[in-house]
Amino acid sequence: YAAKHHRTGVSVYSLDEDDSSPARLVLLGELHRALDAEEPGAHELEMHYQPKIDLATGRTVGFEALMRWRHETRGLLAPAAFIPLAEQSGLIHDVTRFALTACVRQLALWSQDGRSTPVAVNLSAHDVTSTDVVVLIERLLAEHDVPAALLEVEITETALVADRSRVVPVLERLGTLGVRVAIDDFGIGNTSISQLRDLPVDELKIDRLFVADLQAGGREGSEVVVRAMVDLAHSFGLRVVAEGVEDEHTAGILAGLGVDQAQGFLYSRALPPADLSFGVLVPTPRRGADESTRPAGSRP
Ligand code: C2E
Ligand code: MG
Ligand code: MG
Ligand code: MG
Repeated sequence: YAAKHHRTGVSVYSLDEDDSSPARLVLLGELHRALDAEEPGAHELEMHYQPKIDLATGRTVGFEALMRWRHETRGLLAPAAFIPLAEQSGLIHDVTRFALTACVRQLALWSQDGRSTPVAVNLSAHDVTSTDVVVLIERLLAEHDVPAALLEVEITETALVADRSRVVPVLERLGTLGVRVAIDDFGIGNTSISQLRDLPVDELKIDRLFVADLQAGGREGSEVVVRAMVDLAHSFGLRVVAEGVEDEHTAGILAGLGVDQAQGFLYSRALPPADLSFGVLVPTPRRGADESTRPAGSRP
């Protein structure tokens, strides 16, 4: 845990599984309050952005938005500390509305600066069983005059197959709108090949467990597994993105396997908008230096 804390610069708390534990209820109340803040500046929740790198050119071709909670006393919290709680309590719809609103606003700000880099927002399983989220997205895009092509949503493979008959129509409507859809954390959810073929998605994100297996001294046969995923996805016309790329050796293998884009600490962790760079991200040991000069919870 210490290592994870150091690398990502965010804290992870494990709360009691018991729904009614006092710590949970306190955090839930605080999350409610954070979501209620009327003034945009009063929000303790914020979106950080991790670059998506085109493996052929090294260019930043998009960002994934990852939520952080700048908690008054606990420091900067990672989603694991509060998203599950939000999902169990029904607050997740407010969390999602916050994420989508923040990202569409950010896209509008960037476009005023002449930038048009797409942003991917993570949706929860609960969001994609109803078309409410489509209505919300449509309204936000219109309100901020942002083209749908700049917005992407990510939904985990597990969420997708768990309630397929309700999720697929929602994804179809998003597709009609022009919003791209990605399957997140692919490979751990046992989706069959025929299921994958019929899904209305544009992108497949290989879970970082498979990417970690490619590391030097990693699991034997891993390249064969990843190659199969890449070829399958490409044959269905999907873009392939690798998550959790941490070293150049792995990036080289992924490029060789034809993976289109990569994300990971090798390039950058998720950063607040002010800290982002839009050009070519040359992987250098700079990352280590960055993190030691920016302790968890400090404002950049
Ligand atoms: P995810 O969508 O699969 O996001 C990737 C996670 O991997 C992020 O963790 C990211 O910081 C981390 N990561 C990126 N590069 C590396 C790397 O090279 N090595 C390692 N070890 N990790 C890397 P994070 O930000 O803690 O988010 C965790 C999960 O929380 C996300 O997984 C996503 O499922 C969920 N999440 C994040 N933001 C939101 C949100 O706004 N709404 C919802 N519903 N879920 C969110
Ligand atoms: Mg994601
Ligand atoms: Mg993922
Ligand atoms: Mg993942």
